[in-house]
Amino acid sequence: MTWAKSPMDILKLLDQSNCQRCNEPSCMAFAAQVFKGKKKLSDCPKLDQSIIEKYAQSDEDEESTDRPRTSEEEVEAYVKSLKQKVQKMDLAAVAEKLGGVYQNGRLTVKVLGKDFSVYTDGTLSADIHTNPWVSVPVLTYITEGAGKDITGSWLPFRELKEGSAWSGLFRQRCEKPLKQIADNEYDLFVDLLDVFNGRAVQHLDADIARVFYVLPKVAIMVCYWPAEEDFESNLNIFFDEAANENLNIASINAMGSGLARMFEKLSEKHSTHQYWPFS
Ligand code: SF4
Repeated sequence: MTWAKSPMDILKLLDQSNCQRCNEPSCMAFAAQVFKGKKKLSDCPKLDQSIIEKYAQSDEDEESTDRPRTSEEEVEAYVKSLKQKVQKMDLAAVAEKLGGVYQNGRLTVKVLGKDFSVYTDGTLSADIHTNPWVSVPVLTYITEGAGKDITGSWLPFRELKEGSAWSGLFRQRCEKPLKQIADNEYDLFVDLLDVFNGRAVQHLDADIARVFYVLPKVAIMVCYWPAEEDFESNLNIFFDEAANENLNIASINAMGSGLARMFEKLSEKHSTHQYWPFS
């Protein structure tokens, strides 16, 4: 409690009759116990309920502002702030700008080919289970995306805006786990890429090169080179340059981590039926 700087501040609230009904020898002794957190103001039966409630509320307020939020609470608060932004937006205009569809009070965008909808009150809806791996990037795309069209020019993650600061994390959370799956279960990896209708392309002599639209105007290209003689295998993900304008680096990283998590789960299950990313 920071409202009481010393037991004296608590003593001022008491009637100082030293009646001992609180089982302390005096009001001063009681105040000292409250100051140490060993008794509560409500343990004095002579205190007005209004005073007890007033100071109990102060303690709660302090606790809620002093206690650091957990990462889940941080994410929840961030999602809430994004939904509040959505409420102030013209979703029909956003749909036109970002390659979505606006109908019956909701904006729908394709996330890896699957429908994901946001209503004007910020409510999310999808045929699939959603979690922060997908809801944060999608809401960020909707609230901040510039709507830049796909360019056809590909960049590695580290060359995206602020990418160099995040590239270690992206390598660790996205490219490395995907490479491991491709190394260990090549055929399954190809099957998984097919599930999401990746378009096969040629790029830098990669053995596998597939283009996906994680969002209507955020395209990625997954490239894999198997091990060869003295060369280790490698997997890189490239981004269409428009990603720089349509999604911030934290959300791009979150989407990459979600993609890797999805592939890991799928490879564990060895089944691609009825499975959706980020669940
Ligand atoms: S019950 Fe209240 S008034 Fe009585 S001694 Fe304890 S603190 Fe003081």
